[in-house]
Formats: sequence, structure tokens, C-alpha cells
Amino acid sequence: MIDKLQNYVSGNWVLGSGLGTVLTDPILGSELVTVDSYNLDIPEAFEFARQRVKPELGSHSFMQRAEMLSQAVKVLQANRDKYFDIATKNSATVKTDSAIDIDGGIYTLNYYAKLSLTNKQYLLDGETTKIGKEYYAKHILTPIDGVALCINAFNFPSWGLWEKVAPAILSGVPVIVKPATVTAWLTHAMLKDVMDAKVLPAGAISLICGSPDGLIEQLRPNDVLSFTGSAETAIQIKSHPNINRSFIRCNLETDSINSALLLPDEFSNDVCLQALCTEVVREMTVKSGQKCTAIRRVLVPANRFEEVVSLIQSQLKKVNVGNPRHDSVTMGGLVSLKQKKYVLEGVDFLCSHARVLFDGRDHRYIDVPGANSSCLGPILLGLPEGKIALEEDAIHQTEVFGPVSTIIAYDNLIQAYQMIKRGQGSLVVSLYGDNIHQLQATALTLANCHGKVHIVSPHCVSTHTGHGNVMPQSIHGGPGRAGGGQELGAERALQFYHQKSVIQAHGTVLEWFQ
Ligand code: NAP
Repeated sequence: MIDKLQNYVSGNWVLGSGLGTVLTDPILGSELVTVDSYNLDIPEAFEFARQRVKPELGSHSFMQRAEMLSQAVKVLQANRDKYFDIATKNSATVKTDSAIDIDGGIYTLNYYAKLSLTNKQYLLDGETTKIGKEYYAKHILTPIDGVALCINAFNFPSWGLWEKVAPAILSGVPVIVKPATVTAWLTHAMLKDVMDAKVLPAGAISLICGSPDGLIEQLRPNDVLSFTGSAETAIQIKSHPNINRSFIRCNLETDSINSALLLPDEFSNDVCLQALCTEVVREMTVKSGQKCTAIRRVLVPANRFEEVVSLIQSQLKKVNVGNPRHDSVTMGGLVSLKQKKYVLEGVDFLCSHARVLFDGRDHRYIDVPGANSSCLGPILLGLPEGKIALEEDAIHQTEVFGPVSTIIAYDNLIQAYQMIKRGQGSLVVSLYGDNIHQLQATALTLANCHGKVHIVSPHCVSTHTGHGNVMPQSIHGGPGRAGGGQELGAERALQFYHQKSVIQAHGTVLEWFQ
């Protein structure tokens, strides 16, 4: 008999009363836990958060709430091994990939716990400005008068949780978390440990493991919604009548067809080319390519196409795919058999627009019993002609959320820029080159359609933080089809959970707001 995960609403752990969804190990096929939120009193959960939790959290200063987050970090660190075990079983990730989610989440939470903030209950925005005779304006930020609903994607059940929860709680805003059903187990385990340790006020973070039905209906003006997931779901959410009717502030983090660009020969060298190939292989294989920031398009000068392809092929041959419990395995499986089916359908679609250069569908998987696992080897596609590649919107606009990437030749930089911009707005572009002026100019050209421009020059090939790694110090999010959202970025993350107001007054009154 497997466990059924409880939900945490109105300060209590409660079971759903439905049959629920059974989560299975995508490698071994064994049943893990059941997820169910049927028949919970969702309206009461939101009201409890608004009426009971909000005033309590709000009565503390930023520093006091930061201390609560520090205590939560300690609880999570003490239970780390359990989380890795869940990730292996539920997400089929090798230990280093699980660490990106688990340790990445704890690191992000700790970063916010250590953020040096005021001991007051508001934040300042800019300087005092004179607007009349002895009359002044000062902008301040106060925590929103509502709750935050945070809906997460399956690929980061830990990091996706803490990168949203940390700035919200620090801002004094209660959070209602809805993890993706398929990986809700890890989110549940972490929140159970933290809430049972009573390091946060009861109900500060609510947890609904199961269907999203009925959640968005509960949002009221002054609540906020933070969503991470596919563009398709984001469109459904944005067109939900209550989102419009209640004027809900939304932050959406969605699909992204990220790219990596190797500058032409006059602006790059072999060190840059090798660094690009290493990073492409890493991005294709880490978490089996199930990262919103993963490199999906690799743009290289046409005269370097064959060289780049052969270097990447030789590295992909060394990737051992299989059971994440086996020592020699470097890449585990996809999150589920359903996800594998989506990825294979996506690959079939892309194959009608590009050549297959490395076919992971032929891979032999290590230590995988039975033929029906979620393992899938990396798949490299290629478009060797720039003029044709420019017109292939399928490659520029289709996100296949797995170990899949396309190498695209370009004839000149203008053409490369046009192709990158055909992604319609992305989370990340990374640039590889050794000419500082060209790197700077390219960064400026591409910045307005990316949340992050990640530059790798020979000075930092072994020290850069990685194309796909999201650092809490930097903003995360991208324009256009990437959702138009913005998260993290140190203190900037708090703005989403605050209302900005201008206080206009005589100088003697304004003095108080320091
Ligand atoms: P998804 O299918 O869109 O689901 C995301 C979340 O939305 C899940 O919690 C899901 O719950 C919930 N959901 C589904 N339908 C909903 C509805 N009508 N109303 C409210 N919530 C609803 O995405 P996914 O498959 O979990 O994640 C993969 C996608 O996320 C990829 O496209 C990836 O690019 C994107 N992603 C983006 C970022 C970023 O920061 N930009 C980060 C990570 C992932 P259920 O699981 O219960 O259906």
C-alpha cells in the first residue's frame, strides 16, 4: 500500500477524498505515492491565508522574516538525503542533476535569508523629489494586501518552490503552492519538514498537491499569481475570466527556445568553439534537457558547422544513459513515460525540418529492466544552410522539452541575429567569442529579446556560471513567448510581492520614511 500525500491548508495537513493520481518510478515502473486534492476547502484555505496568516507575517520586519527563512534552510539541510532519494525515484535524475534542483533550491532560499534588508516594514524606491514649494514626493514599497498563488512546473519541484516562496515570505506575503502533479512528492516532503518544524507561522505556506481546478477562481484583487510552465497553460490561465475580472497581477515563466551563438572566426577562436561544444552537451544532458533555460538552438558560422557537429557528436557518444542509481550513468530518464512520448513526437516533427546528426533513440540504456522506461538518449539535429535555416520557423519556435538541440549554420551575423530573434523572446542567449567589442555589440543587439545574455570569452571558459544555471543574484525570465515575467535578481524579486506608492507630503512628514 503506497502513501497518499496530504495537503496543507488552513494550517492543517489533510487528505483529499478522491482516488488521486498514482506517481510511478519512470525507470522501474514501481508505484510511489498518490497525489490527491479532491474536495479540499479551497475557499477557506485562501481566506485563512488572507485573514489569519497575513497579519501575523506582516507584524514582523524583513529581518525577522529573513531569520525564519534561515531556520527553514537548516531544516532542509538536515533532511537533504531524503530529498535526493525522492528525486531519484520520482524524477529519474542522477545525483548531480538532483542537486541542481535540491541544493539549488536551498541555496536560493539561503540567499534570500541572508539578503541585507531594512528593519522596517516597507522598502524605499529612489530618492525624495521636490514637486512643489516645500512639498516633496517619495516612493515606497509595501507588501501587497493579499496572498500569492504559486503554480510550478514539473522539472524543478524544489528550486521552483523556493525561488518563489523565499521572496514572497520575505515580503510578508502568505503563499499557496501548487506543484506539478507528476513531481509533487519532493515539494511535499520539503514543505512537510519545514512546516512541521514550526519555523514559520502556521499556514504561511499552504500546499495543494493535485488538480489546479478551483484555484484561480479564488484569487481576489490584490492577490498575485506566479506561474511557471508551458506557454499553452499560461494562455489558459491568462484568459481565465477571474484573472481579468479581479485584475490579478501575474508573473508568467513559460517556454523558451534559447540559443547559443559562436561569433564568426574574426571574433572568436578555438577555445571559444570548444567551450561552446562542452556547454551544448551539458545543456542537452543535464536533467535530460528538461530545463527551461536549456540550449535548443546552436548558431555557428557555416565554415565551422562540420567541426562543431563532430566535436559535439564525439562528446555525446560518451553520455551513459540509464538508471540514475547506477554509478556509470551520467544521464537519467525523462520525468515520465508520457513526457517521453511528447518528446518523441516533438523530435518527429523537428525531423521533418532538420537532419538528424546524432540519434539517441538508438541508445542502449544501462541497468534498465524492461523496455518501457522513460530513458531517451540525446538527439542532435542540424540545419547546415543559413538561408534555409532562416525560414524554418518550426526550429525557431518549437520547444521540445528533452535532450534535443539543433545546430544551425549562419552566413553572416545579421542573419544569425534574425534567426535568434525568431524565437520570439527567450530566457537566455549565450555568446562565445574573444573580441570584446563584438561581444558587447552583440549583447546590446540581442538584449531586448532575452532575459539573460550570458557571455563566454576565453577569460572565463572554466569559471562562468553556465548558460542554463539561474543565479538568485540575477534576474530570471524573458520577454515575448518566454512569458514576459521576471523573478529573482536579488531584492528585485520582492517588487512583485509589493505595492509601489508615492507619498507626497511636506518635508517634515516625509523625513520619517528613511
Ligand atoms: P504545464 O503542463 O504547463 O504545467 C505547469 C503547472 O500548471 C502544473 O502545476 C500544472 O498542474 C498546472 N496547470 C495545468 N493546467 C492548469 C490550468 N488550467 N490552470 C492552472 N494551472 C494549471 O508545464 P509542465 O509540463 O509542468 O512544465 C514544463 C514546461 O514548463 C516547459 O514548457 C518549460 O519550458 C516550462 N518551464 C519554464 C520555466 C521558466 O522559468 N520559464 C521553468 C521551468 C519550466 P498539473 O501538473 O496538476 O497538471
